[in-house]
Amino acid sequence: MGIAAETQPEEKASSEVIAVGKRWTLNDFDIGKPLGRGKFGHVYLAREKESNHIVALKVLFKSQLKQSQVEHQLRREVEIQSHLRHPNILRLYGYFYDQKRVYLILEYAAKGELYKELQKCTYFSERRAATYVASLARALIYCHGKHVIHRDIKPENLLVGAQGELKIADFGWSVHTFSRRQTMCGTLDYLPPEMVESLEHDANVDIWGLGVLCYEFLYGVPPFEAKELSDTYRRIMQVDLKFPTKPIVSSAAKDLISQMLVKDSSQRLPLHKLLEHPWIVQNAEPSGIYKG
Ligand code: ATP
Ligand code: MG
Repeated sequence: MGIAAETQPEEKASSEVIAVGKRWTLNDFDIGKPLGRGKFGHVYLAREKESNHIVALKVLFKSQLKQSQVEHQLRREVEIQSHLRHPNILRLYGYFYDQKRVYLILEYAAKGELYKELQKCTYFSERRAATYVASLARALIYCHGKHVIHRDIKPENLLVGAQGELKIADFGWSVHTFSRRQTMCGTLDYLPPEMVESLEHDANVDIWGLGVLCYEFLYGVPPFEAKELSDTYRRIMQVDLKFPTKPIVSSAAKDLISQMLVKDSSQRLPLHKLLEHPWIVQNAEPSGIYKG
């Protein structure tokens, strides 16, 4: 008990000090303050006793997972997230379980939810938004290179690390698309073009998601918001994209958003091109860290 919220410099120096692939139990951790609660359980600050490494321990109740039939989804989330290593993707070091609970050992994001930051200041400056969008683009390029599509990019799924770096945290809706190699070695001669190309195509959903996010960063509201669900649906289908006059947003930013929110997924601005867009080049912090 009583772990300080701030990690000591020697503790955060390395993200690899915690043994990967070990058989963990609850006894390996000192449990600290609650960090938050989710749909299926609670998240606590914790310290791994042997390494002194500070982590976030997510505790999920098996009964609730079963009831909501999300065991399969959780298994996929763990499988995918534990294999990703990127500064802008929250590390999942490992997991263990007992009779009643499943425990996920997660990298600790000291500055918490980005969602709350956005609520606090209503909308972000262009420098801040561009820095975040660029780091997310790099993280998504990394994911897509591993055939992982996130599919659920939104402020609620983003956490902020101790240095102000953004961390994609929730892989609950992500998928691992079949790889080219698998495609090539099967009997897939009858595969239609849209399936042959599905890898590239599906990954483009994340460009759309990042476009929506960029808009919300700059305006404080998502682009297709409406009172009725059916109206939001219609606005998305028509790509009814409007830029309010307030807050004032540069035309370069609007240009980038317009190139990402394109109905034909193959026509969306590829992420590596996004990184070369003038708005990103002129506004994003080269370090990828927004310090305010
Ligand atoms: P929901 O599905 O409702 O979003 P969840 O099961 O995904 O819930 P999380 O969102 O992962 O739960 O966690 C709940 C809260 O705990 C988060 O909103 C955040 O405030 C906090 N939290 C989760 N993981 C971490 C972490 N690694 N570092 C710091 N805080 C965290
Ligand atoms: Mg969540």
